[in-house]
Amino acid sequence: MTEKSFLESRRADICYNLDVISEKIAEAAIKSGRRPEDVRLMAVTKTVDPLFINFALDHGVKLIGENRVQELLKKKDELHLDGVEKHLIGHLQTNKAGQIVGVADMIQSVDSVKIVKEIAKQSLKKGIETDVLLEINIGAEENKTGFDVGEFTESVYEIAEIGGIHVKGLMSVPPICENDTILCKFFENIYNIYVDIKGKKIDNINMQILSMGMSGDYEKAILCGSELVRIGSAIFGPRIY
Ligand SMILES: *Cc1c(COP(=O)(O)O)cnc(C)c1O
Repeated sequence: MTEKSFLESRRADICYNLDVISEKIAEAAIKSGRRPEDVRLMAVTKTVDPLFINFALDHGVKLIGENRVQELLKKKDELHLDGVEKHLIGHLQTNKAGQIVGVADMIQSVDSVKIVKEIAKQSLKKGIETDVLLEINIGAEENKTGFDVGEFTESVYEIAEIGGIHVKGLMSVPPICENDTILCKFFENIYNIYVDIKGKKIDNINMQILSMGMSGDYEKAILCGSELVRIGSAIFGPRIY
């Protein structure tokens, strides 16, 4: 295959995948009593070459997610980002907060009060406010970061007092599950926490975005109330690290 036809076939694959996924998102949204536009698609671009990311952006993707600060900073100038939002979705270390604040449109992976405080500090320093989602460790997994369900409400009240950030919703990655029944239980638990916090009407805490669902489970996540799905491999193919 020539270089050119290789690139064109990659472009065709990515566009086809995006069309199929958009259709499935729309179907699941309607099935859950909402409109297709009520669920946003994020293209997760970690490890993906900017060339291929641009194929997706040229095909209408309006939101991308990266896991690492360094990777986002390195790639962003090569991307066709006009009118496109970029979110951080991977664990943020305190010492990297200063580099990402003002660059990412949202930090979805905010997993402790400590990192909230650091993002707030860096935001105030730059005279801006940063939109964040709070990440819940719904399966109480030791190898994962995120707020504990048991302490979450208390943490939210503490975070509500902090200036320089806006809490816009929740993000979560459920554990790998043996079957769909167990997986759906996790999605339902996340949704219930989201609705519960929303119902408390806490100042500076706006529950407008529920971010859950990835390549393997996004339709189920939408049926359980997801408003933003983060999809990588189903768009770009398997990741090569
Ligand atoms: C990598 C990643 C995704 C996308 O995973 P896929 O299974 O490739 O769709 C979504 N969310 C987070 C937080 C990720 O790290």
